[in-house]
Amino acid sequence: MTVRTRFAPSPTGYLHVGGARTALFSYLFARRHGGQFVLRIEDTDLERSTEESVNAILEGMTWLGLEYDEGPFYQTQRFDRYNQVIDELLDKGLAYRCDCPKERLDKLREDQMARKVKPRYDGCCRNRQVDPDKPHVIRFKNPADGVVVVDDMIRGRMPFNNAELDDLIIRRSDGSPTYNLTVVVDDADMGITHVIRGDDHINNTPRQINILRALGRDVPQYAHVPMILGDDGARLSKRHGAVGVMSYRDQGYLPEALLNYLVRLGWSHGDQEIFSLEEMVELFDIGAVNKAASAFNTDKLDWLNQHYLHHAEPSRIARLLSPHMGRLGIDPSTGPELAEVVKAQAARAKTLAELAEISAFCYQDFEAFDETSAKKHLRPVAREALERLRAAFEMMAYEDWNPDDLKRVVERVSEELEVKMGKVAQPLRVAIVGRAASPGIEETLMLVGKEATLRRIDKALAYIAEREGAA
Ligand code: GLU
Repeated sequence: MTVRTRFAPSPTGYLHVGGARTALFSYLFARRHGGQFVLRIEDTDLERSTEESVNAILEGMTWLGLEYDEGPFYQTQRFDRYNQVIDELLDKGLAYRCDCPKERLDKLREDQMARKVKPRYDGCCRNRQVDPDKPHVIRFKNPADGVVVVDDMIRGRMPFNNAELDDLIIRRSDGSPTYNLTVVVDDADMGITHVIRGDDHINNTPRQINILRALGRDVPQYAHVPMILGDDGARLSKRHGAVGVMSYRDQGYLPEALLNYLVRLGWSHGDQEIFSLEEMVELFDIGAVNKAASAFNTDKLDWLNQHYLHHAEPSRIARLLSPHMGRLGIDPSTGPELAEVVKAQAARAKTLAELAEISAFCYQDFEAFDETSAKKHLRPVAREALERLRAAFEMMAYEDWNPDDLKRVVERVSEELEVKMGKVAQPLRVAIVGRAASPGIEETLMLVGKEATLRRIDKALAYIAEREGAA
């Protein structure tokens, strides 16, 4: 048997992290077993489905690198097939027409609620002849008794009494097929062997199994993935900030960081935290996924992203960083090679957006010194050090502007003044970066370059002079 899984999103919004995790688990399961992964767009809800959202889903899948072997298939292109199956069920007496008026159904529901029994259709039309030319729906004839067992790969055995399941509507009065019917037809036609999906579908599963059996088709194995909660314990939603996958890209997360984060959300392999996609494929085990919901933790995602920013190929990060620099109004071709900036800075940032922010100083003068850093380091005692550094830097030829020579200048000034290196390097750092944090001082000087270094030291000296004047 070739394993075939699918991801079957409804295009009624962007690809959110919950959907992305379901897609990842389905993808990994297929890859792990040498099988195929199918993408199916469940766009039968014509009112809520949009092309924009289809595009957002496809874009999200591409960005994450979740390659599918088949699809995207669109359910709206398969209506003939669904109707063919519905007719087959009708012909075989496994489905029936129902023209119960809304008032009757409402009343039935009210009575059942009053009697505290689960509201369900009472099968009134099961044995009636309903005129096919008058408005009607088609209902599936659910088995009246017995038990359907869902043998879930994550949750184990879940028995459902048929007596509690409805004769559900499989075709609406406007002729359109319903979700449970289309899913069943597609899963069967597409040869899906393992259905991995959100646990909000658990109650549909026994119904779908009954329809599959009625059609004489194979029943796939199911795995219902628990939901994701926000940091506050409520179901993850827009309220918790970014939940759309592409908004993580826009904030400067790397796809491998998000995938690594998502795979660990409800699954673990010993105490391993870092997984490449290859490792995930090799190690992922759907049976080891937690039954309980997991909470989204942005700090952990940030930690992973920082790890990947630091370890990825600098030229790739530079390419991804470029638009973030652009957003700050910086054209990276006007300064040091972006890849050099990445090498020096990547370990310090959690996201590309943050990396751009802390690297802006390499390309443009900052507006003002960070107040705390300036108060601490740009004091009158630092004046002489900065003046000596400035003089030494000014004398240096452009071709001598290299890390070794620059380091020597800073060392020499600290020796001359008989102070520790930090007493020289920190004021210099604040002068040329604007704040007290940056890579090694010689690296920083390399990134800033001679002209800007001199200009910024002048600004720092003016700041100190002003302070002296005010004192
Ligand atoms: N289209 C359904 C959804 O987006 C998923 C159906 C399924 O996986 O069976 O929730």
